[in-house]
Amino acid sequence: MKFSWRVALLWALPILVIGFFLWQGAFSSSAMTGGSNAAATRMSYGRFLDYLNAGRVTSVDLYEGGRTAIVEAVDLDLDNRIQRLRVDLPANDPQLIAKLRESNINLDTHPPRNDGAIWGLLGNLVFPVLLIAGLFFLFRRSSNAPGGPGQAMNFGKSRARFQMEAKTGVLFDDVAGVDEAKEELQEVVTFLKKPERFTAVGARIPKGVLLVGQPGTGKTLLAKAIAGEAGVPFFSISGSEFVEMFVGVGASRVRDLFKKAKENAPCIIFIDEIDAVGRQRGAGIGGGNDEREQTLNQLLTEMDGFEGNTGIIIIAATNRPDVLDSALLRPGRFDRQITVDAPDIKGRLSILEVHARNKKLAPEVSLDAIARRTPGFTGADLANLLNEAAILTARRRKEAITMPEIDDAVDRVVAGMEGTPLVDSKSKRLIGYHEVGHAIVGTLLKDHDPVQKVTLIPRGQARGLTWFVPSEDQALISRAQIRARITGALGGRAAEEVIFGDAEVTTGAGNDLQQVTGMARQMVTRFGMSDLGPLSLESQSGEVFLGRDLMTRSEYSEEIAARIDAQVHTIVEQCYKDACQMVRDNRVAVDRLVDLLIEKETIDGEEFRQILSEYTQVPEKERYASMS
Ligand code: ADP
Ligand code: ZN
Repeated sequence: MKFSWRVALLWALPILVIGFFLWQGAFSSSAMTGGSNAAATRMSYGRFLDYLNAGRVTSVDLYEGGRTAIVEAVDLDLDNRIQRLRVDLPANDPQLIAKLRESNINLDTHPPRNDGAIWGLLGNLVFPVLLIAGLFFLFRRSSNAPGGPGQAMNFGKSRARFQMEAKTGVLFDDVAGVDEAKEELQEVVTFLKKPERFTAVGARIPKGVLLVGQPGTGKTLLAKAIAGEAGVPFFSISGSEFVEMFVGVGASRVRDLFKKAKENAPCIIFIDEIDAVGRQRGAGIGGGNDEREQTLNQLLTEMDGFEGNTGIIIIAATNRPDVLDSALLRPGRFDRQITVDAPDIKGRLSILEVHARNKKLAPEVSLDAIARRTPGFTGADLANLLNEAAILTARRRKEAITMPEIDDAVDRVVAGMEGTPLVDSKSKRLIGYHEVGHAIVGTLLKDHDPVQKVTLIPRGQARGLTWFVPSEDQALISRAQIRARITGALGGRAAEEVIFGDAEVTTGAGNDLQQVTGMARQMVTRFGMSDLGPLSLESQSGEVFLGRDLMTRSEYSEEIAARIDAQVHTIVEQCYKDACQMVRDNRVAVDRLVDLLIEKETIDGEEFRQILSEYTQVPEKERYASMS
């Protein structure tokens, strides 16, 4: 909404300026009523009379009802040439006219130029007309584009704000890897299909289901599948659509939505990102947000307003259930919460199977191997992965998706688009040392994930990358593992400093350091892995958000805070020293690996370990076997 006003201003400004100039232009033309007289030199009335008496005047044209005259007179000084002169005449001088007629002068009068007045009028109109036309155009534009930048005229009307799908066409079979959620939601389908079965025994059908999970885990898909399985219409809106600039708009949208839904019951209403509107009321900076509170109140009222058995079931999705207003979670509202987690390896495999259905895969492609390589991927990531692989396959004019396309697609989904490699230069060499630093530290530490490959081909924001074989869905991570990760992440900066010296280190390590600090801090404040002892000093969500956390004080004193900082510092310091030492001890190997990397641009993990083992003892890791 704010945005649309900015657009409005952007439009109005040039219109104003143009309008102003046209207006001005029209004004000055209307002032020039006499037309040609502007060009003539002025002559005083007295002189005019003298000329007249001397018989030098040959013609008089009267303008403006006889108040101005253009006089043609003979100029005696200039070879009797005819001069055109302008004279202001006194008003109403009948004698003058008589005299002019007597002396047989060409006499003519010109009526006041009406077109001048018309121009003046038009000039005055042009500006407002342009302004109105501009605004009209603007509003039309904004209301024609649903979800477009501006909706300024759409007060309260939620036209095209929520989507309705009569048939979603999605079935539970299309949603994979979230079996528990599916099981629970199966019941909702039965509510919609056979409500009698429940009402007959006096059961109250739940009105709201809250799906909790990070983005891309398939919450929308699940809600659509419920509608699809039950064969009912699907209404959807995003919580952020409710939050508008004008107070009351959100509330009226809610009213509209429920009205439409009631007309189409039984049906599903899906509210995405409900936390945008359902945050704790009366909190946040500067007191509550009136608009949001009104919208939330309206939502609560609507939910209470319809009987439990009208066949409308509201499904809401969020990844922040902790910020929701408790009123939303009360019985009779969103009283069921279903967690939709990122899939585990089995889940990933079945999601891949769903999305591979309509894709041509070469026989050697193993979905199982892909599932193993993609811990942490959500359903949306996996769908995206297969799609990227298909696009690459088409671009390479292959018949079917093969493993290299899959590999490239994984890299792309994880790290972004591939860029063009740097030409050989000092900075390429520096990045080479940085990456080899990560890789060598990662390889030499027993508790670090093994290196998968090192590359100098830029991707996304990164100018070089070291890939590690990710650990499979590990629920528990040991202290030694976190320390290894911190040391590994510091390996890049350590190599830069050891090789090029203190003054040459670069900003390239910024991201690494951010991760390092985060991990070290969590070791101290959350996992009790420091000399401060086994204390939890921070709430689960480290993030400050406006709904609630801002109000709570930190749970420790200033003194503890200082000690936390000191501990974090100590951990990072020690790990950095270790990393530097490892680079120093293996300087010869590092140099050789960097040369090779600059030449080949990518070294895979196996070769990397092979070369390194010629110089030093490389510890065995369990997961070497599962690689490549
Ligand atoms: P969310 O609503 O949780 O952010 P979506 O339901 O919008 O996620 O998921 C986006 C897309 O990702 C879906 O359209 C689907 O293609 C794919 N997807 C996500 N989760 C799954 C899943 N569990 N099974 C199959 N496909 C999935
Ligand atoms: Zn780095």
